[in-house]
Amino acid sequence: METRDYIEKENRYGAHNYHPLPVVLERGEGIFVWDVEGKRYFDFLAAYSAVNQGHCHPKLVKALIGQAGKLALTSRAFYNNTLGEWEELMARQFGYDKMLPMNSGAEADETALKLIRKWGYKVKGIPKNEARIVVCDGNFHGRTITIVSMSSDPDSYSDYGPFTPGFVNIPYNDIEALERELQHPNTAGFLVEPIQAEAGVYVPKDGYLRKAAALCKKYNVLFVADEVQTGLCRTGKMLACDHEEVRPDILVLGKAISGGMLPVSCVLADDEIMLTIKPGEHGSTYGGNPIAAKVAVAALEVLIDEKLAENATRIGKIFRDEMKAFNSPLIAEVRGKGLLNAIQINPLEGKKAWDLCLLMKEHGILAKPTHEHTIRFTPPLIINESQMIEAIGLIQQSMKEFI
Ligand code: PLP
Repeated sequence: METRDYIEKENRYGAHNYHPLPVVLERGEGIFVWDVEGKRYFDFLAAYSAVNQGHCHPKLVKALIGQAGKLALTSRAFYNNTLGEWEELMARQFGYDKMLPMNSGAEADETALKLIRKWGYKVKGIPKNEARIVVCDGNFHGRTITIVSMSSDPDSYSDYGPFTPGFVNIPYNDIEALERELQHPNTAGFLVEPIQAEAGVYVPKDGYLRKAAALCKKYNVLFVADEVQTGLCRTGKMLACDHEEVRPDILVLGKAISGGMLPVSCVLADDEIMLTIKPGEHGSTYGGNPIAAKVAVAALEVLIDEKLAENATRIGKIFRDEMKAFNSPLIAEVRGKGLLNAIQINPLEGKKAWDLCLLMKEHGILAKPTHEHTIRFTPPLIINESQMIEAIGLIQQSMKEFI
């Protein structure tokens, strides 16, 4: 079988809920992936920042295989001898009393929403079923009905109603709008991405997160950070909130927490919040499974041992500096932090970001548009300087040919 056969099969038998670039991958190592014809590509998506540690990191493969051959799943009906170690590591690393494991980012966000509401009723004393949660326009927290109820993107929510009530949308990066909503006595939480990644890598003004967290404290509202995409060294710090020395009341993590090996996510919080959920009130069959625990421990160790936050800062700056200096009429804006970057494309003669991605693919760079005119560039964080320079050359070459 070759590329077009695989694509045909997926199109024939798979749901059409994605629009992939026409490339069929069969192997990955570090920052590279190979297609079924053996062509090598720089992976500048890194599975939406799940593969921060690079493809098939040997330490993660070892943890996965070692545990898979020993004990894969017990469910939480019993204890297992791996989960506690992971929970302790996470609690200590991020400075929280407790962790709650789930699988996908959306599930972790759902967990955070439940915690906000439980805390709102049990601790803050909000009247039954009256809790409000403030969220931002442009958010992306996943795909469940409740989560798309918070979305301002028609692609995410159209025809999925009726929607879950209890959310209040405000503009992102708008402190005054936030303060107005926090004053409402039934507001229990503010859920925010420190950088809006899916929306197109929108970095808020310096001080936004710090001011937001301080206001939440003032009005006794939980400050909840969705760091599913921004967390785990992607932006040049362990957490994007660390840039402003902000400690969320609830921290949501996913994606790179397993380095792309299997779906793992979690929520961290202190006892006052976490223990509002009692036995039997929330959970997941696979959440906290032994393979996830072993892989997640190894994945966090890789991020720290290989100093990937520092690397993201250094290499990300090279990317932005070089792309800004390139001065192409195609580039409307280069923005981002660490290795979470995006280029806003000028739609010259109706050409779209998608078309440029197709051309970059021909030159050996895989990146995906997010919305019509934005391309996200998020390679694995292990990329080194000479690799980045080579990749920038290929991106710029593609841009020159495009116009
Ligand atoms: N939250 C953020 C900020 C995300 O970027 C994503 C996915 O892109 C999610 C949540 C959802 O994660 P998942 O696709 O694992 O459900």
